[in-house]
Amino acid sequence: MPDHPPVPGSDIRPWARPGARGYLFVNANIVDVQEGNILENASLITRQGKIQSVSSSPPESPLPPDLTVIDCEGRYLCPGLFDAHVHLCAVPGYKDLSKAFGNSDHSSLLRQPFVAAQMLHRGFTSVRDCGGAQLPLKEAIDDVFPGPRLFISGHALSQFGGHGDLRGPHDQAECCGGLHSNNHLGRLCNGVPECMAAVREEIRCGADFIKIMGSGGVASPTDKLEHLQFTNAELQAMVECADNAGTFVTAHAYTVKAIRHCIDNGVKGIEHGNFVDPPTAKLMAEKGVYLTPTLIAYAQMASDQWKGYLPPESQEKNSQVLKSGLHALKVASEAGVKMCYGSDLLGPLGSAQTQEFALRSQVLSALEILRSATINPAKMMGWEESIGQIKDGFQADVVFLNKNPLDDVTVFDRPEEHVLGVMKDGRILKSPIIDQYEMKLELDGKS
Ligand SMILES: [Zn+2]
Repeated sequence: MPDHPPVPGSDIRPWARPGARGYLFVNANIVDVQEGNILENASLITRQGKIQSVSSSPPESPLPPDLTVIDCEGRYLCPGLFDAHVHLCAVPGYKDLSKAFGNSDHSSLLRQPFVAAQMLHRGFTSVRDCGGAQLPLKEAIDDVFPGPRLFISGHALSQFGGHGDLRGPHDQAECCGGLHSNNHLGRLCNGVPECMAAVREEIRCGADFIKIMGSGGVASPTDKLEHLQFTNAELQAMVECADNAGTFVTAHAYTVKAIRHCIDNGVKGIEHGNFVDPPTAKLMAEKGVYLTPTLIAYAQMASDQWKGYLPPESQEKNSQVLKSGLHALKVASEAGVKMCYGSDLLGPLGSAQTQEFALRSQVLSALEILRSATINPAKMMGWEESIGQIKDGFQADVVFLNKNPLDDVTVFDRPEEHVLGVMKDGRILKSPIIDQYEMKLELDGKS
């Protein structure tokens, strides 16, 4: 028999869950990513999915009876992580890139919950999908199955022959100009009216922001990395339509010329940015443009394990962007560009999602990397008052760790060793350690 009263509305939506239960965590070391320090021996109360209080003093007794008490024994509580560049539609199941975006809608969609749950287990309580994920997935994550909070762009917008056009050079098929898409990832649009219509369609279908392809890319078969994509007029039209809907445009772009082409026309985010130079980075910092590098994607595609994942025409492009990636991080950091954590891993490569931490730690401090995976993407999405920190009134998104990530941020790379549990919206995903606590508590209660 259920031990709680029926959830309102559960006759119509039988999957509706009861509200998150209340927790009191004591003896916790809470990671403050804003200040870059640890609040030691702290107590944390979560109720109804939110953080109700964070305090450096032990709670007064008697303890509120509705709270489940968990003794953290000095373990570390870090804000839930945010990966700002994923593609949930590029599900595993295929050993080369050709199927990453081209598999059937149904088989992709049915596998996306699996991919989402894996991300959450690694500690990512929020992700931003930069092309492919659609509203039904976002709604189902809120509702039916566990996964990270999802920010979606719907389809990524691309010109013909751009980074979102997966047709090869010999493909003479009439393609879907305007409002249709020839794959999960992208929607093709050319000329100002089609570009405006495409932005409005994505917004209508639930996009939280707009993603466009502003330069050539590694995985697209017919463009070159240094190509500029879209004209000034097209870019301005898309930026204006996004702005009218209260959101912004972020652009896939590698070269200095492409980055400038985009930001001069009002784009507010740059994805990848592997060839950014100091003057361009300075301009990005001045304009408050976010940079989301995705180094792990190139590193994985170049690794022995995934040799052959990329077709030959993409391998050379991949080694070019891989070489310059770490240098770009340094350049951006020195110029004060706000950076976000991105992985951009497709298909089976997604299991390396946390390895971007180790890559970045070759040139950036642990705190800077942690901010890129918490407060910076929260701010980019306008959620800085709700997620990214363990703070009164914020959503209760917490990663439980057995090591201090400010000493060694690569602990996130080994979630099986260091991530003891993940809480999203006040719900704890079962983990051996938390289970053990709860069992202990139950025994305590009986004694
Ligand atoms: Zn991408």
